[in-house]
Amino acid sequence: MNFECSFIINRMPRLLRVNLTDGTFKFEDIPEDVHKRFLGGFGYIAYYLLKEVDPKVDPLSPENKLMFAPGALVGTGIPTASKTMAGAKSPLTGTIMRSSAGATIGPALKKAGIDLLIIEGAAEKPSLLIIDDDHVEIKSASKYRGMDAIEVQGHLKADFGTDFATAAIGPAGENLLRIADIDSEERQFGRGGLGAVMGSKKLKAILVRGTKEVPVAKPDMLKKLIAKRAKIIKEHPATKDDMNYGTAEFFDRMNRERGTFPSRNRQRGYRKTCVDLKEPHKCPVDPYNRAPKYTVELHPCPKCTKPCGRYIEGDDTEVGHFRVEGLEYETIYSLGGALDITHFPAVAKLHEMCDRLGMDAISAGLTIARAMEAFEKGFLKPEDLDGLELTFGNRKAALEALRKMAYREGKVGELLADGVKVAAEKLAKKLGTDEPLKFAIHVKGMEPPAYDVRGIKGMALAVAVSYRGADHLTAVVYGTELVGKRRVFENVDRTKAEGKGFEVKIHEDLMAVYDATGICKFSRHMFYLEGIPELIEAVYGRRPTNAELLAIGERIVNVARLFNVRAGFTRKDDTLPRRVMHEPIPEGPSKGMYVSEEELNRMLDEYYEARGRSKDGIPLKAKLVALDLMEFLDYGVGSEA
Ligand code: SF4
Repeated sequence: MNFECSFIINRMPRLLRVNLTDGTFKFEDIPEDVHKRFLGGFGYIAYYLLKEVDPKVDPLSPENKLMFAPGALVGTGIPTASKTMAGAKSPLTGTIMRSSAGATIGPALKKAGIDLLIIEGAAEKPSLLIIDDDHVEIKSASKYRGMDAIEVQGHLKADFGTDFATAAIGPAGENLLRIADIDSEERQFGRGGLGAVMGSKKLKAILVRGTKEVPVAKPDMLKKLIAKRAKIIKEHPATKDDMNYGTAEFFDRMNRERGTFPSRNRQRGYRKTCVDLKEPHKCPVDPYNRAPKYTVELHPCPKCTKPCGRYIEGDDTEVGHFRVEGLEYETIYSLGGALDITHFPAVAKLHEMCDRLGMDAISAGLTIARAMEAFEKGFLKPEDLDGLELTFGNRKAALEALRKMAYREGKVGELLADGVKVAAEKLAKKLGTDEPLKFAIHVKGMEPPAYDVRGIKGMALAVAVSYRGADHLTAVVYGTELVGKRRVFENVDRTKAEGKGFEVKIHEDLMAVYDATGICKFSRHMFYLEGIPELIEAVYGRRPTNAELLAIGERIVNVARLFNVRAGFTRKDDTLPRRVMHEPIPEGPSKGMYVSEEELNRMLDEYYEARGRSKDGIPLKAKLVALDLMEFLDYGVGSEA
């Protein structure tokens, strides 16, 4: 299964290692053997994190390492090969973390000849990391301290030049919120608190200018493949809606058709107020109603020819002016449905504030949603919340709570700054009861995405086992589950637990290939694995087989799992929130559905068997041998376990 990539390109993959404690840096070749087995992007990050970071380390200590890696195909002009990965041990989950973004720093790193950036140690004072091809410099960031994540990048471009790509943290990262993100020119490395890791290293921003050609083994072949891929994308029936409405186009399908759009802190599976309308598309948060009205320009990730991103802009008597890159399906959920807010400008303003303050919009929204439920259940009073009446639908209170969170300001800020799990545990401790923990919706500490998994059993398994906590993008199995068939999968029934282990396993392996190559997962319905082997041949010189590529994906998923096993995670952590397992969806097309303990156990058994893991979820040594992970053999367990 080993991917025998023969390099006929003019250089080996290279990493840049920067130590912020002593201000040193060095370039190192990435061994060919590592490239063959892990390819790039999150493949490199997962491997180097497992090799170099103690999984039990405090994520906010200098011993944690923050890594950025553009996908293996990024910077070559391939349409939708746009994604750069960031990773570290997460302060939100304690697991390995992967967060991807259509970040401008990815192609810039590639053009500087850097396939992996490893940031070690911690600076004493707020700092900038400036990478200008082979020249690396650490400068004071005192002048930029406290600026919001978007504002600061504007200042940096004015001060250093617009040909620098930038990434920065906002106040949330500086204040070490465990839900802080990293922004790269209005694309976010959103999930898992990587902004706090960057903040703990006192690194306010990274600037990258690369002026070299990205090496390509077969340029003529690549040119033809780029044209072919662009044509397929242009002519695909989904492209028009993708571009007109972005990911928000899922809303009506998920809400009205499936009844799996979570709202009110995931108590409900759909928004009845939208369903009951004579014209369902006139629902205030539905993109078919609002997108044309507010969209001012499209905003593609680097080299994307079917941009789902857009800037929306408007004025509102209540929230004032708003301009944000969004809304996405996820933020319509986390800052709309989860909070029971349908006033579109308020949802847009909340989204803009998350981006500017530097907070993951899913985690921030769900944290406020849980506080709203705690308030309505009487566990929180206005005096606990600096006077805020944090009821569902109260948009003014939500806006104020969000601002205070970023600065850890007042009682609200201190209570909610670090996400759902920490907030629920603080409240439970204060009240001396476990009741607030019962509606804390998270897996391994991460707040879940916009799918009511009670009605999508395969998704329930995917969020339970994902190596980064409740997550839709590690397996991206929801399309197969909701459509009922895709590629090798036929007659998939989202209401049944049977058969999900293999289905989730294959989807995870495939999506790990996307995380290694940097191809956007929102183009998977057009390509899946097709076309990727030939693109790799054009860039690196040799065409891998589909099986070789899937083995790389499987290897990456296992390395991530080994990191978590060494951090102490086992089967007991591959679980679901209490609400998912004990409170059926109350109404709508998925009424009555939930995931029983027996169903979860059956799905876990199936999944571990398909993965080659023990009953406790630990990779078997036989699997590690088969995947050529001999150096990690001691991290697995024997087949008899
Ligand atoms: S489809 Fe959307 S997320 Fe994907 S590369 Fe294009 S703009 Fe970025």
